[in-house]
Amino acid sequence: MVDSLLAGKSALITGAAQGIGAAIARLFAAQGAGVVIADIDEEGGKATAAAIVEDGGEARFVRADVTSAADLDAAVRATVDAYGRLDIAVNNAGIEEQGGSPLHELTEETWDKLISVNLKGVWLSMKAEIAQMLAQGGGTIVNMASIAGMVGLPLGIADYSAAKGGVIALTRTAAIEYVQQGIRVNAVCPGVVRTALLDQAIDAGMFTEPEAAALHPTGVLIDPEDVAQTFLYLASEMSNHVTGQALPVDAGMAAG
Ligand code: NAD
Repeated sequence: MVDSLLAGKSALITGAAQGIGAAIARLFAAQGAGVVIADIDEEGGKATAAAIVEDGGEARFVRADVTSAADLDAAVRATVDAYGRLDIAVNNAGIEEQGGSPLHELTEETWDKLISVNLKGVWLSMKAEIAQMLAQGGGTIVNMASIAGMVGLPLGIADYSAAKGGVIALTRTAAIEYVQQGIRVNAVCPGVVRTALLDQAIDAGMFTEPEAAALHPTGVLIDPEDVAQTFLYLASEMSNHVTGQALPVDAGMAAG
């Protein structure tokens, strides 16, 4: 594979201390990008950045909570200070609070927390990133949605699904609002991916691992590295003229 698809580019990735975000950070750095890992997990974020640097890549960690506009402004500033621009932003940070609870049993507290991280956090992230991208004359944003934002799933995750559907709507709206300013905005909608988030969902009784895998027509769970490849496509010039799309990486789950 060509290893310079992102040569000379800078990328800010939220929620990249572990899981899919960390896989995206590793892949982007391996493709030549200077990466900023923004996360609330300082230890994990620093370790992921250090591992990238050890492999010969360029990465640094910034502590940022995506529910804080001030943190996001600072993360964008840190990216520009480090690399001169913000070429690519990946808004990936997300949580799953109370998997397995039917809609009428969800609490307001859980709903508010989940929407604040998974939906408002993406809006706040784009708000900070787009201001910088407008000032520099363009950029590319890839948001993390989910197949749960596209189809109804009987998993007790109404709040999560609503947030991810909202991310898809925000993606389309931003794509149209900024298309003439050289900013592309797309979203990725994974099926069930092997990460700590999946482990939490299993622990919460949402499903067993075989049941989770059976949601895919392939019967196989998806690896974070496979999802990262789609982020690379949407972040790079391979996807020039692609904007406002929500691309499933779901082993055919939504097609059925
Ligand atoms: P994960 O729990 O492994 O990683 C999530 C990361 O986000 C962690 O590093 C965590 O510290 C960080 N984070 C949480 N709250 C934050 C906040 N307020 N500010 C900044 N960082 C914060 O989970 P993952 O599976 O890698 O999930 C990443 C994204 O992918 C999420 O948006 C999730 O909804 C989405 N997703 C996951 C799956 C899946 O099956 N795992 C499927 C579809 C979509």
